[in-house]
Amino acid sequence: MVDPSGSSPRAEAVVDLAAVRHNVGVLRRAAPGAAVMAVLKADGYGHGAVPVATAALEAGASWLGVCTLEEARALRAGGITAPLLSWLHLPDEDFTEVVATGVDLSVSSPRHLAAVLDGARRAERPARLHLKVDTGLSRGGAQPADWGDLLDGAAKAQADGSAQVVAVWSHLANGDSPQHPSLDLQAARFTAAWRAARERGLTPIRHLANSAATLTRPDLHFDLVRAGIAVYGLDPLDRQPADSPLRPVMTLRARVALVKRVPAGEGVAYGHEWTTPCDTTLALVPLGYADGVPRRMNRAGRMRVLLGGALRPVVGRVSMDQVVVDCGDGAAVREGDTAVFFGPGDGGEPTAQDWADELGTIHYEVVTGVHDRRVARTYTGVAG
Ligand SMILES: *Cc1c(COP(=O)(O)O)cnc(C)c1O
Repeated sequence: MVDPSGSSPRAEAVVDLAAVRHNVGVLRRAAPGAAVMAVLKADGYGHGAVPVATAALEAGASWLGVCTLEEARALRAGGITAPLLSWLHLPDEDFTEVVATGVDLSVSSPRHLAAVLDGARRAERPARLHLKVDTGLSRGGAQPADWGDLLDGAAKAQADGSAQVVAVWSHLANGDSPQHPSLDLQAARFTAAWRAARERGLTPIRHLANSAATLTRPDLHFDLVRAGIAVYGLDPLDRQPADSPLRPVMTLRARVALVKRVPAGEGVAYGHEWTTPCDTTLALVPLGYADGVPRRMNRAGRMRVLLGGALRPVVGRVSMDQVVVDCGDGAAVREGDTAVFFGPGDGGEPTAQDWADELGTIHYEVVTGVHDRRVARTYTGVAG
């Protein structure tokens, strides 16, 4: 792809909002009896929270979820008014503004409840609470032994008008292993916790499933499913795009800054881990570990990019800002051409799943590692 105008960015994450809408459609069909929450933490898993939220809502998601109050505020500031849940806070944060802008808040302890009620008092508006029970992940949530006290406090707040108990919720430890026995145990504890809320006269909705459970465990859908990774088209069961109903949303690419012939026997990049075996053409591509290409991506010398119509090897170490690609005789590659690092795979480029396999990690970490302070985000498939 030659862009003689030079107008396209040095490096960009191309975010396909039509794919977001497609993926939300897949999730809605998988969970026809439940509402869909699109999870947008970490700036939409590195894709941009506001544009992804807009596309997800267009496709029928009816809730949004974030981790922090900063993320909740950013969505409200971006004009997103849909139901929004934020779930990880410190007890001394100021909840006034988020209560005032109608952000639902997760609460796991009496101290957190008191802080949120304080915000509600100052906002002069009831807080909307999602009471979180720890059913076996042992991260957030109240332990079953402490659940009764939390319910009593929340029921009292609802009775005096300072809060509304919207939901009881929890999070799975092994959602990506649909047959894991812990799922049934967590579901049983979850149902017991919800019953205890009903016994106190509360009528909360329930939500437990992540993307994987949305696609594989209809018995865990309850009233609302919280889907993150699947919204971004990355398969929670680690299937490659060709074998998944989902469509990857992000393509990471950068443009060739320099092409040159280098003689045989020259070391390439820091440490000279690779030496030109013969006279060859090298392309310098300005994307490195500060942009979301981990150094260990090429530790075994297996990294490839799609450039000039072929998969070509990255040679030598990944630098902070750049990589070097061996282009052989160089006939197909020009300065300004685009190298695709990962994408949906349709054009033969590597996928985020390929990267995760090479890195010994999960595709979540691959896409959230691409930061917009260095990599421009370009949106395609915007609804017309
Ligand atoms: C991140 C997150 C999700 C979404 O998980 P995926 O596996 O990306 O679908 C759901 N719920 C909570 C509490 C989360 O933190």
